[in-house]
Amino acid sequence: MKSIFSDAIEEIKRGKRFLVVSHVNPEGDAVGSLLGLALALKEAGKDVVPYLEDPVPEVLRFLPGSELVSHSLEEAEPFDATFAVDCGQYERLGKGFAQFRGQGRLINIDHHKTNDHFGDVNIIVPEASAAGEIVFDLLKEAGLKITPEVATNLYVAIHTDTGSFRYSSSTPDAFRKAGELVRLGADPWKIASKVYENYPLKRFRLLSDALSTLEVKDEGKIALLTITQDMLRRVNGSKDLVDGFVNYARAVEGVEVGVLLRECGQDEYKISLRAKGDVDVSKVAEKFGGGGHPHAAGFNIKGTLEEVKEKVVEELKEAIDGGAG
Ligand code: 5GP
Ligand code: MN
Repeated sequence: MKSIFSDAIEEIKRGKRFLVVSHVNPEGDAVGSLLGLALALKEAGKDVVPYLEDPVPEVLRFLPGSELVSHSLEEAEPFDATFAVDCGQYERLGKGFAQFRGQGRLINIDHHKTNDHFGDVNIIVPEASAAGEIVFDLLKEAGLKITPEVATNLYVAIHTDTGSFRYSSSTPDAFRKAGELVRLGADPWKIASKVYENYPLKRFRLLSDALSTLEVKDEGKIALLTITQDMLRRVNGSKDLVDGFVNYARAVEGVEVGVLLRECGQDEYKISLRAKGDVDVSKVAEKFGGGGHPHAAGFNIKGTLEEVKEKVVEELKEAIDGGAG
């Protein structure tokens, strides 16, 4: 019987040289899935390049294989095939990848419902809590070895994308696979302490600035946090310090959607949305040309801070109160 992985397994058997890529602004699932797959292919004797346009966030640099990540394809020889993991849109793989001509067959492995099927082969499993879960299934079916290093990466992918097994995406399958990864060598406390208890001091200074911008709209159902480039400059920090801040907005009592507005250029903002109630924020993000999951989504938008806030709040209000009032 043909499984969803048949084509990918065929490529793995046939090819010798593979590129593995994920999205810009990479987080735990992007890096964990990327390195989990790359290390497993390497272990099977393949020639593998893991590639990310952006740096691996500091807190994830403990991940085995993170030192192997390449950030330029300019000199790269052609590949037999490329695996894209955790990425819903081709453009989110970055400009460097878009300009590269030697990708070979493109295999798109993802769990975003909003995935636009940009691959030659598309393995899209929206029920998966993380792309790491799909990589786990692929490795098992392909008979590739899950070493402790691979297990650590895939565990981090699932652990971070489920919000430490708090989100509704924490299905029995997610727990089962995480359990198996622990059996295969992932160390939950070592990983948790690296990911959640190892932040640079400047992240807390930045958080303190960010929290002072907290405001609520729509009778307390929407909470907003703002990060300006000035704030980042003040702490001499980069954008990856901001990962997770939006959860503070969502955590406010009565809030249905938490919003983080991060200034990323002159009159340009990266918006992160997190839903607590039934609002599907991926639909709101799509209206602005972005995407994501029902509970976590994002997009980029141009305008002054006030204009951007107004537009975003307006769409969110409609999504939250739509038809009800
Ligand atoms: P974050 O807010 O952490 O950047 O992203 C939350 C979720 O939304 C992730 O699943 C991410 O892949 C998706 N996402 C964030 N920004 C964008 C965007 O600009 N376009 C698309 N398509 N998805 C995004
Ligand atoms: Mn993911």
